[in-house]
Amino acid sequence: MPDIPTICCYCGCGCGLYLHVEDDRVIGVSPSRNHPVSRNNLCVKGWHAHEFIHSPKRLTRPLIRKKDRLQPASWQEALELTANRLLHIKEHHGADAIGVLSSAKCSNEENYLLQKFTRAVIGTNNIDHCARL
Ligand code: SF4
Repeated sequence: MPDIPTICCYCGCGCGLYLHVEDDRVIGVSPSRNHPVSRNNLCVKGWHAHEFIHSPKRLTRPLIRKKDRLQPASWQEALELTANRLLHIKEHHGADAIGVLSSAKCSNEENYLLQKFTRAVIGTNNIDHCARL
Protein backbone atom coordinates (compact mmCIF):
# COMPACT_ATOMS: atom_id res chain seq x y z
CA MET A 1 0.00 0.00 0.00
CA PRO A 2 1.36 3.49 -0.79
CA ASP A 3 2.22 5.83 2.05
CA ILE A 4 -0.77 7.86 3.18
CA PRO A 5 -0.32 11.64 3.43
CA THR A 6 -2.01 13.19 6.46
CA ILE A 7 -1.61 15.72 9.28
CA CYS A 8 -0.15 15.00 12.73
CA CYS A 9 -2.98 14.87 15.24
CA TYR A 10 -1.01 15.85 18.34
CA CYS A 11 -1.13 19.64 18.20
CA GLY A 12 -2.44 22.60 16.30
CA CYS A 13 0.76 23.13 14.28
CA GLY A 14 -0.56 20.63 11.76
CA CYS A 15 2.73 19.15 10.56
CA GLY A 16 2.49 17.02 7.44
CA LEU A 17 3.47 13.37 7.59
CA TYR A 18 3.09 10.06 5.80
CA LEU A 19 1.65 6.96 7.43
CA HIS A 20 3.39 3.72 6.44
CA VAL A 21 1.08 0.74 6.16
CA GLU A 22 2.03 -2.93 6.06
CA ASP A 23 -0.40 -5.87 6.25
CA ASP A 24 -3.29 -3.47 6.97
CA ARG A 25 -1.50 -1.98 9.98
CA VAL A 26 0.08 1.44 10.35
CA ILE A 27 3.67 0.69 11.30
CA GLY A 28 5.37 4.09 11.21
CA VAL A 29 5.47 7.69 10.04
CA SER A 30 7.86 9.95 8.19
CA PRO A 31 7.74 13.72 7.65
CA SER A 32 6.35 15.25 4.49
CA ARG A 33 9.26 16.84 2.67
CA ASN A 34 7.20 19.53 0.94
CA HIS A 35 4.65 20.33 3.62
CA PRO A 36 4.51 24.15 4.03
CA VAL A 37 4.31 24.00 7.85
CA SER A 38 6.78 21.30 8.82
CA ARG A 39 9.09 21.11 5.76
CA ASN A 40 10.46 17.62 6.40
CA ASN A 41 10.47 17.93 10.20
CA LEU A 42 8.48 16.38 13.03
CA CYS A 43 8.90 16.80 16.76
CA VAL A 44 9.23 13.71 18.96
CA LYS A 45 5.46 13.45 19.36
CA GLY A 46 4.97 13.51 15.60
CA TRP A 47 7.45 10.66 15.10
CA HIS A 48 5.25 8.54 17.38
CA ALA A 49 1.91 9.81 16.05
CA HIS A 50 0.92 6.36 14.75
CA GLU A 51 1.40 4.38 17.96
CA PHE A 52 -2.10 4.78 19.38
CA ILE A 53 -3.89 3.77 16.18
CA HIS A 54 -4.11 0.05 16.92
CA SER A 55 -4.09 0.29 20.72
CA PRO A 56 -6.74 -1.91 22.37
CA LYS A 57 -7.10 0.83 24.99
CA ARG A 58 -8.30 3.34 22.41
CA LEU A 59 -11.79 4.75 22.97
CA THR A 60 -13.77 4.13 19.83
CA ARG A 61 -17.29 4.86 21.08
CA PRO A 62 -18.93 7.02 23.76
CA LEU A 63 -19.11 5.80 27.34
CA ILE A 64 -21.85 6.84 29.77
CA ARG A 65 -21.52 6.39 33.52
CA LYS A 66 -24.41 4.28 34.84
CA LYS A 67 -24.44 3.09 38.44
CA ASP A 68 -20.78 4.09 38.86
CA ARG A 69 -19.68 2.10 35.81
CA LEU A 70 -18.80 3.40 32.36
CA GLN A 71 -21.01 1.66 29.81
CA PRO A 72 -20.68 1.77 26.00
CA ALA A 73 -23.38 3.91 24.39
CA SER A 74 -24.43 5.05 20.94
CA TRP A 75 -23.48 8.51 19.71
CA GLN A 76 -27.18 9.40 19.62
CA GLU A 77 -27.59 8.45 23.28
CA ALA A 78 -24.42 10.29 24.33
CA LEU A 79 -25.25 13.46 22.42
CA GLU A 80 -28.84 13.53 23.73
CA LEU A 81 -27.62 13.06 27.31
CA THR A 82 -25.02 15.81 26.91
CA ALA A 83 -27.50 18.24 25.33
CA ASN A 84 -30.10 17.55 28.03
CA ARG A 85 -27.57 17.98 30.85
CA LEU A 86 -26.27 21.26 29.39
CA LEU A 87 -29.83 22.52 28.98
CA HIS A 88 -30.68 21.54 32.56
CA ILE A 89 -27.60 23.33 33.95
CA LYS A 90 -28.31 26.43 31.88
CA GLU A 91 -31.99 26.58 32.95
CA HIS A 92 -31.30 26.01 36.64
CA HIS A 93 -27.96 27.76 37.18
CA GLY A 94 -27.46 30.08 34.18
CA ALA A 95 -25.19 29.85 31.17
CA ASP A 96 -22.15 30.97 33.17
CA ALA A 97 -22.36 27.77 35.22
CA ILE A 98 -21.05 26.02 32.09
CA GLY A 99 -17.43 26.06 30.95
CA VAL A 100 -15.97 24.58 27.79
CA LEU A 101 -12.41 23.40 27.18
CA SER A 102 -11.21 23.02 23.64
CA SER A 103 -8.23 21.03 22.41
CA ALA A 104 -4.92 21.64 20.67
CA LYS A 105 -5.63 18.44 18.79
CA CYS A 106 -8.52 20.08 16.98
CA SER A 107 -8.12 22.09 13.82
CA ASN A 108 -8.44 25.89 13.89
CA GLU A 109 -11.84 25.48 12.25
CA GLU A 110 -13.05 23.06 14.95
CA ASN A 111 -11.81 25.38 17.69
CA TYR A 112 -13.56 28.29 16.01
CA LEU A 113 -16.82 26.33 15.87
CA LEU A 114 -16.55 25.34 19.53
CA GLN A 115 -16.06 28.94 20.71
CA LYS A 116 -18.97 29.99 18.47
CA PHE A 117 -21.15 27.22 19.94
CA THR A 118 -20.12 28.23 23.48
CA ARG A 119 -20.80 31.92 23.03
CA ALA A 120 -23.77 31.92 20.61
CA VAL A 121 -25.62 28.73 21.60
CA ILE A 122 -24.80 28.16 25.27
CA GLY A 123 -24.48 31.90 25.95
CA THR A 124 -21.28 32.13 28.00
CA ASN A 125 -17.76 33.38 27.42
CA ASN A 126 -16.38 30.53 29.55
CA ILE A 127 -14.34 29.00 26.75
CA ASP A 128 -10.68 28.09 27.10
CA HIS A 129 -8.11 25.83 25.52
CA CYS A 130 -5.98 22.98 26.81
CA ALA A 131 -2.78 24.77 25.77
CA ARG A 132 -3.35 27.21 28.67
CA LEU A 133 -3.95 24.56 31.33
S1 SF4 B 1 4.88 16.93 14.83
FE1 SF4 B 1 4.95 17.93 16.82
S2 SF4 B 1 4.77 20.13 16.34
FE2 SF4 B 1 4.10 18.98 14.52
S3 SF4 B 1 1.85 18.80 14.74
FE3 SF4 B 1 2.78 16.94 15.62
S4 SF4 B 1 2.99 17.42 17.80
FE4 SF4 B 1 2.68 19.34 16.74
